[in-house]
Amino acid sequence: MNRDYIYQTFTRTICSKCGGLIDGKIVYNEKGVFILKNCRTCGEHFEILEEDFQYHLQKYKYDKQGTKSGTQTIISRGCPYDCGLCENHDQHTCIGLIEITRRCNLSCPICYARAVDDADLPLHLVEKMMDFYMSAENNRAEILQISGGEPTLHEYIIDIIGMAKHKGFKYVMLNTNGVRIAEDENFVREIAKFRGGFEIYLQFDGLENKVYSRLRGKNLVSIKKKAIKNLNKYNVPTTLVATIEGGVSDHLCGEILVYGMNQPCVRGVNYQPVSYYGNIDAPPDRVTLSGVLNRIEKQTNKMIKTSDFIPLPCNVERVAITYLFKDKDGFIPVIRDRDLSEFKRFIGNTFMFTLEDALENFNDGSKIFNVCACCDFINDIKKYSPGNFILKSKEEKMKFVDENTFRISVSSFVDKYNFDMKSMQKECVHIITTDLRRIPFSAYNMIHRSA
Ligand code: SF4
Ligand code: SF4
Repeated sequence: MNRDYIYQTFTRTICSKCGGLIDGKIVYNEKGVFILKNCRTCGEHFEILEEDFQYHLQKYKYDKQGTKSGTQTIISRGCPYDCGLCENHDQHTCIGLIEITRRCNLSCPICYARAVDDADLPLHLVEKMMDFYMSAENNRAEILQISGGEPTLHEYIIDIIGMAKHKGFKYVMLNTNGVRIAEDENFVREIAKFRGGFEIYLQFDGLENKVYSRLRGKNLVSIKKKAIKNLNKYNVPTTLVATIEGGVSDHLCGEILVYGMNQPCVRGVNYQPVSYYGNIDAPPDRVTLSGVLNRIEKQTNKMIKTSDFIPLPCNVERVAITYLFKDKDGFIPVIRDRDLSEFKRFIGNTFMFTLEDALENFNDGSKIFNVCACCDFINDIKKYSPGNFILKSKEEKMKFVDENTFRISVSSFVDKYNFDMKSMQKECVHIITTDLRRIPFSAYNMIHRSA
């Protein structure tokens, strides 16, 4: 009798029951892609890795070499216990995240930052962490996320954003639940001054109070609307960050996108399927990255299709992205019906992959346009951008990209259920710790975060 799956590849994984490091197989059939775990103590079990096996199989066309980076720790107990970064880690830091406080004005049931009444990090330590991140990335660190807890509660939040801009990070993001943004207009006026390489990363789970009640423990629709109103008023570039949980908010993927597209301040939406850390059990209907893509297609009546997304080459396992271009008739998906896999060598190992970056990568190579089938894509971008785009100043380019493009991305993180070693070792979102290490976001929340 045949098995009811195809064996794709071998992996190292974690037993979802006892937490031991074990061998596993990545297998698939028409129902999805699974990690087959065979634990000597707990027996055989399957965990969902991706809902759409076709997306999973084609994503490797976009895979490319990681970027080498310095290390802070040695290999000793094995991954994921040696963070980090240790020599086994295969990708540099695309996004460095500094948690400047553990205080929060919400207490979300799904919170893995374990918000507590704790002291804020002192300014001099935050500066030291920024400097460490910059030097660990050979002074080319691009994206800094200021996070928490709720970072807007930090007494010196304005100084911290200013400091980050001064240090030369290309993009500074403020991860916030939006409560202070909604309630303190003066604060919004202040942060608006950082426009240009500054963005609000706004927790936004749609416009249904029952969803907030489940995910955040509180009805928050009016707060979110007020926050968006203030951000629109002061034109502060914003990404909506939507947590997607099966049976709770997965019916809202399309609605959140359409809402975002109609808000002048919103430059993109990032979807994050819920990860399950601590004692929270993963439900049988957990949502995956490809599941979010399929829901977006279905819930927008194919206005945006699964095939409009590309796996991001810096981490094809866990990030997918697409861009829309705004013109007078609406939004145009710039990647539609194109196979961009040949284009991957021109895509930097960085999360943003903005159209600005794409245009700059192609700037020195008109010859590329003659040999690469992807040139149509770039020519299309060029068609929508001003003729003298390349000659514009950095600030003017950022402003143009900011105001004329819309980014949709999906990031899925690793937990003990969907753990596969490659996903773990390619992860490029790293927590910068107070003892000056870089720990991949998932490993940090799975095992390294102190109580
Ligand atoms: S997650 Fe990366 S840094 Fe951490 S132990 Fe594994 S390879 Fe090393
Ligand atoms: S807003 Fe963020 S930090 Fe605060 S409790 Fe919710 S998830 Fe945790």
